[in-house]
Amino acid sequence: MKKIAVYGKGGIGKSTTVSNMAAAMSAMGYTVMQIGCDPKADSTRNLTGGKNIATVLDTLRTKENAALEDFVVKSSSGVYCVESGGPVPGVGCAGRGIITAFEKLNELHAYEVYAPDIVLYDVLGDVVCGGFAMPIRGGYADEVYIVTSGEMMSLYAASNIAHAVKSFGSRGYASLKGLILNAKNILEEEALVQRAADEIGTKIIHKMPRNPIVQKAEEIGLTVVEAFPESSMAEEYKALAARMLEVEQ
Ligand code: ATP
Ligand code: MG
Repeated sequence: MKKIAVYGKGGIGKSTTVSNMAAAMSAMGYTVMQIGCDPKADSTRNLTGGKNIATVLDTLRTKENAALEDFVVKSSSGVYCVESGGPVPGVGCAGRGIITAFEKLNELHAYEVYAPDIVLYDVLGDVVCGGFAMPIRGGYADEVYIVTSGEMMSLYAASNIAHAVKSFGSRGYASLKGLILNAKNILEEEALVQRAADEIGTKIIHKMPRNPIVQKAEEIGLTVVEAFPESSMAEEYKALAARMLEVEQ
């Protein structure tokens, strides 16, 4: 089982990238599970017809003795989708919610029952503490990728995430495998991200172009890989998936 966490600043394109990769990996024949670690709970939305699925925390709140099937939804593309969810706003801690969700999945033996070849964690990376650090430090993920554009705030978040991974990494946890450049088409973007990669001591593993086809797919509640499988953007997501799995496309 390959366990991959994808981090990045809020709004940078994590969920879009991860759900398209999940669909691509599933089409390659792998059993994939995607776990959204964000109280907004929209990580898997494009895999599940544009609708948010019930979150682990919501189900825990509303259903007594819930079974594993109550927490996991299989998408039409075959991806097992989970959303950790969050606390009622103003009550409780978002990071704590992720920890509760992970504990529940373990308790119900989700990884043994569904036996995924790949688990993808989609994690908000503006703060890398508490529950948001769980995929890295709790032994959940082995590999970490960071989505960034050339914009300063997203590079700042990338640098923070990289530091967190490195400080946990020295204790034998997950390691940083690279940056995914999700282009915002700003001036000298690739050079800016390359410089940040050099400073962090990592590499850009893929440059994802900005393409309005992403919104077109989103409008109809689908990943690009499913909605427009012949498009150049679908090819980009498939190439990234193959790169991450270190297989020929
Ligand atoms: P959050 O932190 O809020 O969960 P996120 O990092 O998961 O955000 P997404 O929801 O994936 O970000 O993307 C934000 C918006 O950017 C979406 O509306 C999506 O359509 C758009 N987007 C992401 N990547 C691309 C791209 N390569 N080309 C065009 N639009 C993109
Ligand atoms: Mg998201």
